[in-house]
Amino acid sequence: MSVKHTIVRAGLETLYFSGAHMLMRRFLGSVGAVLMLHHVRPARRDRFQPNAQLEVTPQFFERVIRRLRRAKVDLVSLDEMHRRLTTRDFGDRFACFTFDDGYRDNKEWAFPILKAAGVPFTVYVATSFADRLGKLWWVALERVIARNARFALVMDGEERRIECATVAEKREVFETLYWWLRARPTEQEVLDIVSDLAARHGVDMAALCGEFCMDWREINELARDPLVTIGAHTVNHAMLAKGSDGAVRNELKMSRAVIEAALGKAPAHLAYPYGDPTTAGAREFRIAAELGFRTAVTTRPGVLYPEHAEHMTALPRISINGMFQDTRYIPVLMSGAATALWNGFKRVDAA
Ligand SMILES: [Zn+2]
Repeated sequence: MSVKHTIVRAGLETLYFSGAHMLMRRFLGSVGAVLMLHHVRPARRDRFQPNAQLEVTPQFFERVIRRLRRAKVDLVSLDEMHRRLTTRDFGDRFACFTFDDGYRDNKEWAFPILKAAGVPFTVYVATSFADRLGKLWWVALERVIARNARFALVMDGEERRIECATVAEKREVFETLYWWLRARPTEQEVLDIVSDLAARHGVDMAALCGEFCMDWREINELARDPLVTIGAHTVNHAMLAKGSDGAVRNELKMSRAVIEAALGKAPAHLAYPYGDPTTAGAREFRIAAELGFRTAVTTRPGVLYPEHAEHMTALPRISINGMFQDTRYIPVLMSGAATALWNGFKRVDAA
């Protein structure tokens, strides 16, 4: 558990036990939230799970839905969220469930729960994952570190020997390398480094897509259910802000065209891969709007306010994440109290 997570958890606990989130809720005036998930699957036993913040268990997910229902939060589709924001229909607070990347466990574990509860949801599909051409580089990195006690890597022009025999070392190495890779000037550089590392250590990157992501047949089956919205998530799961204007337009237009060809319906909604300010900013928000996406979501933490109607392609989300699998945090997160503190009480962050 990192220091950052401990601090965030302490903040959520304080807000919950003090009841401050109840007092702040009316003052903050949030109208709803877009909730972000990645994997829903049973807990794994491995002690080294550096990507564990991306997954929650089916049991926890079920409890989240019950908790939101009990709190009289309307669980709605992105189209309905769009309607409520644009027509200023703010009678009841609402939440939208969204899942990034197009993982098979969404269909296997989350869908039956959502279907039984009659809850609409969105899956944002990176088309190269469904096409089996994409690279889940963060999973490949996890595998290389998990399976080796040491390996060599050229970092900033220097060959380094990296020791990762113990679980503690593995966690530290993953954290360091993950953020070093995210800081590379181009997407291609990240993919080249991890592909090379994976090839030298027997991790088959091409097979990872098949292991974790839905193919088009599976996505088609899911998309047939009226509860399901399929959204775009670019072709290559690209760090958009690092590319040229043309590259951003291509990623968005191509992914929309590929989904339309595969499903017979063009996606109206978009999620920016990674979605933090280093990968999606004002330029991406503008291009997504110009290309006609009805909504686009980031991973900037926040709830929705009426003024988000003016920033439909720069929407924040609340992460329902594996580090905080405690439903006590749900009302705190939904109240906007936690993210208001995080954002310094700034309600819209679209720059
Ligand atoms: Zn993603």
